[in-house]
Amino acid sequence: YPPELIRNFSIIAHIDHGKSTLADRLLELTGTIKKGHGQPQYLDKLQVERERGITVKAQTATMFYKHSIQEASCSDDQGPANFLLNLIDTPGHVDFSYEVSRSLAACQGALLVVDAAQGVQAQTVANFYLAFESNLTIIPVINKIDQPTADPDGVKAQLKSMFDLDPSDALLTSAKTGEGLEQVLPAVIERIPAPPGKSDSPLRVLLLDSYYDEYKGVICHVAVVDGALRKGDKISSAATGQAYEALDVGIMHPELKSTGMLLTGQVGYVVSGMRSTKEARVGDTLFHSRSTVEPLPGFKPAKHMVFSGLYPADGSDFEALNHAIERLTCNDASVSITKESSTALGLGFRCGFLGLLHMDVFHQRLEQEYGAHVISTVPTVPYIFEYSDGSKLQVENPAALPSNPKQRVTACWEPTVMATIIIPSQYVGSVITLCAERRGQQLEYSFIDSQRAFMKYRLPLREIVVDFYNELKSLTSGYASFDYEDADYQESDLVKLDILLNGQPVDAMATIVHKLKAYRVGRELVDKLKKVIDRQMFEISLQAAIGSKVIARETISAMRKNVLAKCYGGDVTRKRKLLEKQKEGKKRMKRVGSVDIPQEAFHELLKVS
Ligand code: GDP
Ligand code: MG
Repeated sequence: YPPELIRNFSIIAHIDHGKSTLADRLLELTGTIKKGHGQPQYLDKLQVERERGITVKAQTATMFYKHSIQEASCSDDQGPANFLLNLIDTPGHVDFSYEVSRSLAACQGALLVVDAAQGVQAQTVANFYLAFESNLTIIPVINKIDQPTADPDGVKAQLKSMFDLDPSDALLTSAKTGEGLEQVLPAVIERIPAPPGKSDSPLRVLLLDSYYDEYKGVICHVAVVDGALRKGDKISSAATGQAYEALDVGIMHPELKSTGMLLTGQVGYVVSGMRSTKEARVGDTLFHSRSTVEPLPGFKPAKHMVFSGLYPADGSDFEALNHAIERLTCNDASVSITKESSTALGLGFRCGFLGLLHMDVFHQRLEQEYGAHVISTVPTVPYIFEYSDGSKLQVENPAALPSNPKQRVTACWEPTVMATIIIPSQYVGSVITLCAERRGQQLEYSFIDSQRAFMKYRLPLREIVVDFYNELKSLTSGYASFDYEDADYQESDLVKLDILLNGQPVDAMATIVHKLKAYRVGRELVDKLKKVIDRQMFEISLQAAIGSKVIARETISAMRKNVLAKCYGGDVTRKRKLLEKQKEGKKRMKRVGSVDIPQEAFHELLKVS
């Protein structure tokens, strides 16, 4: 395959606009997967992805497609040429825009899918700009034209006014009925440029992603930018200087298919005997060991926006959790992990995530795929504190902040985001109120068309990490769309809020909050805890405090009766059943001091903003 016959593209869309369905149809149309293969959304392989309807991990699929180009330069009637098309999937949620830009680095074009009834939404805007900044050719695809409320002309007008896209360039499709799908791949071939690499230059391979496979070991997902990569080649990493042999080379079709080589412009995989995915640095350049090349620009490192502690739910399981986390991070390099210990919870990990959904997905995968039971502490964002001696410290764990610092804190900063919100006009008032409550600053307010408003806000990250999206959705009957990108730090008035059980601060429950919100948050935390902690043999006092000042308190009175007292009479089986039931409940408990805290308690704490 000469580069002229290769096209690398991805599909970008707001969630639910039909990206996965369209990808499936294209794979079927090219015979890459069978029609009615029984697994809707082929590229969404993970259980989490199927359940949540989101794409977490970018996948690639290579397709072959015959097409004749009507161009003067190749007019000598050779009939249709066989093109090699690489569809590079992108994750579909705000948390993963970092991964979206990574996937786009291997593409020259993108299909921008917009729902014909819903029109442009917040992630359409965000994804458009990601593609635009990467200089990709953008093909607008107005999908779901079969719906009765479809308004393709209205959407064309939006594409024109918001992105200056020519309405006559838009393809109209229904991934459901199949209407218009035949135009998609010809448009990809005719409009998207071939990959620009040079076949006769020394090999340069961009490492896009990696994962660990039981049988093959580390599999690197790569794009060959210049030159050709063959099985048996000796290759080196620009980042580590480590040398490897290309043991297996091939394409994703969409299962791994050995081809023995990858030529300029191709996207595929290479297995090179790496022992851990830690050796496979995303954005790294691989080259022939004896040549000298300029490394490719690579990617900005992932920015961790949300941190949380992960502890084994059952104290003895630390090694098992350690193992599960190690295995999972082999396939999700975007999580940062450091060991930490908590007086309340024992040994655990501090994990950095791209966002709250990423954190949720990570937990879910740990439990589903690796059978781990975890307790996670209240998520926090990376704050910066400055002390009177002039030192500055990034704080990823509230517990790291002394409650009564000997060194006085002289200033603190919190990370902010630039948020894009699109809503039907009638909800403008309530959304402005919500954003004000969340300490937002409005930067832009305009109308996309007669029915929909577009707003830009600067919001503290802390305020959107907890339940912002859900609240926005419920305020607007589900119609709001939301996306954000990280912005600067801003100075802020922050305090550490401690939770005390029977007078003892529980380090794993400490949070950092804005001073103005401390009283309300303290009250809510104490109320929530009172609801979820069971009565025990003794009285439990719950307090929220800033330094030595208690701002909220509650008491859980002692249990009056012994559960087993009911079994008096000696019904052994009943007694055993009760004990077993109690044990089952305990499994998800964590003993803090002398108090049993259900896992649920930590979960409830996440929901307080
Ligand atoms: P994604 O989140 O962008 O990947 O969207 P999906 O491909 O998962 O599609 C979201 C929903 O829209 C699914 O229920 C699809 O069956 C449905 N859908 C996709 N394309 C069409 C279409 O052309 N017409 C209609 N009516 N529904 C569609
Ligand atoms: Mg999808």
